[in-house]
Amino acid sequence: MLPLNLAAPSVGPLSVLAIGAHPDDIEIGAGGLLLGLAESELRAHYVVLTGTADRQQEARNAAHSFMPGADLTIDLYDLPEGRLPAVWGSVKEILEDVARSCSPHVILAPSSDDAHQDHRTVGELVPTVFRDQLYLAYEIPKWDGDMSRPSLYVPLPAAAAQRKVELLHKCFPSQRGRDWWDDEVFFGLARLRGMECRARYAEAFRSAKTVIVPAAFTPDPYREGF
Ligand SMILES: [Zn+2]
Repeated sequence: MLPLNLAAPSVGPLSVLAIGAHPDDIEIGAGGLLLGLAESELRAHYVVLTGTADRQQEARNAAHSFMPGADLTIDLYDLPEGRLPAVWGSVKEILEDVARSCSPHVILAPSSDDAHQDHRTVGELVPTVFRDQLYLAYEIPKWDGDMSRPSLYVPLPAAAAQRKVELLHKCFPSQRGRDWWDDEVFFGLARLRGMECRARYAEAFRSAKTVIVPAAFTPDPYREGF
């Protein structure tokens, strides 16, 4: 298996846009990847669309904890939880505002076929606003049972998987009482995805469209009239 390195471009740090419908979505879906990316110079734009003041504070803490040292921009909104399809236009406007303020290399966001209506709304809108990025759709285990077949895996060192779960518990105390919020769910999914990519632990993503470039054609040929 040939791993493709998610490396910074020739000029400047790697930039990531992480979008969550709810506080904790980003960290559950891609917290391990973010911990890994933050080991190098990283510019991150962190956007969460719903959340009470308490939940927004959890999100703010989590962004700093999962991406220590990153050049971090945090935008938190309080759109109605559970009802993002009803405010589709507002979600699109927020994403368009974000697109005007940054042009990230990588986007981490929910999938358009996620069973939760809020996640799904974000997943449907991302490719209508961003068309020049690697869009990795993360997965979130849930009651609906919508785990699908991933197309891209990020193996996690055991220490990173451990750190991810520790931080989930630490950063989101409001969620600890939920019957699904426990080590077995988080490690179980990470172990299963790890098995599927011949690693101990992993996070998995879906990428509907991926552009790869031979090394001889880098850097950034599409930005140079390729
Ligand atoms: Zn969610």
